[in-house]
Amino acid sequence: MRILVISDIHANYTALEAVLNDAGTVDETWCLGDLVGYGPDPNAVMEQVRELAHLTCVLGNHDVAIIGKMPLEAFNGDARRSLVWTEKVLTADNMDFMRSLPQNTKVRGHVTLAHGSPRDPVWEYVLNTLSARLNFEHFDTPFCFVGHSHIQSMFQLNVKNDRVTMEVAREREATELTPRAILNPGSVGQPRDRDPRAAYAIYDSQADTWEARRVAYDIAEVQQRIREAGLPEKHAVRLAEGW
Ligand code: ZN
Repeated sequence: MRILVISDIHANYTALEAVLNDAGTVDETWCLGDLVGYGPDPNAVMEQVRELAHLTCVLGNHDVAIIGKMPLEAFNGDARRSLVWTEKVLTADNMDFMRSLPQNTKVRGHVTLAHGSPRDPVWEYVLNTLSARLNFEHFDTPFCFVGHSHIQSMFQLNVKNDRVTMEVAREREATELTPRAILNPGSVGQPRDRDPRAAYAIYDSQADTWEARRVAYDIAEVQQRIREAGLPEKHAVRLAEGW
């Protein structure tokens, strides 16, 4: 099966649309959370995600805050301002859908899905080989897909010598995965690796291959909607620079 893996859309509908168009036909979509926060289109994003067939989706930290299961004070000023605004504009239907999603990890075939990490699904960032190493003890499947850091990445555990290396996934090249690995598809709506293009991945669940992808979208259009909504200017600026 051809599976679209997306994460951290952050209410950026234009980026999501570009990703869905670029991905083409898929059998399933796995979404690793943070549907909302930062961006100007929480309702459009949620309505689009809700329409995806064969969707598996876990909650991210911004989503958990929106459904009232985490104090907004846990977020820095600009992130909090976006969440307060999102709370106000989100429709009741979208709020209900958000509440129906799991806050924990989810297992699908060979893969454990988590927003942050298998050890701490809501908050922990897997950013380096040390945090990856510690997390391999917290899931049983060959692979784990995480989001949250907004950085497309791949951590490989060598089971013989128990060492973890960070590998670079080549763009648009299907890489055969060897157990065990932690993979991050990057962020659809707010990439933070200085490449402003939307990030996602295609996972083939039979062949166990992973294809990291990037796609350009109309950033100026999203920046304009951020400004019109009166959201923090920082969230508009960073989109063009990818941080
Ligand atoms: Zn996020």
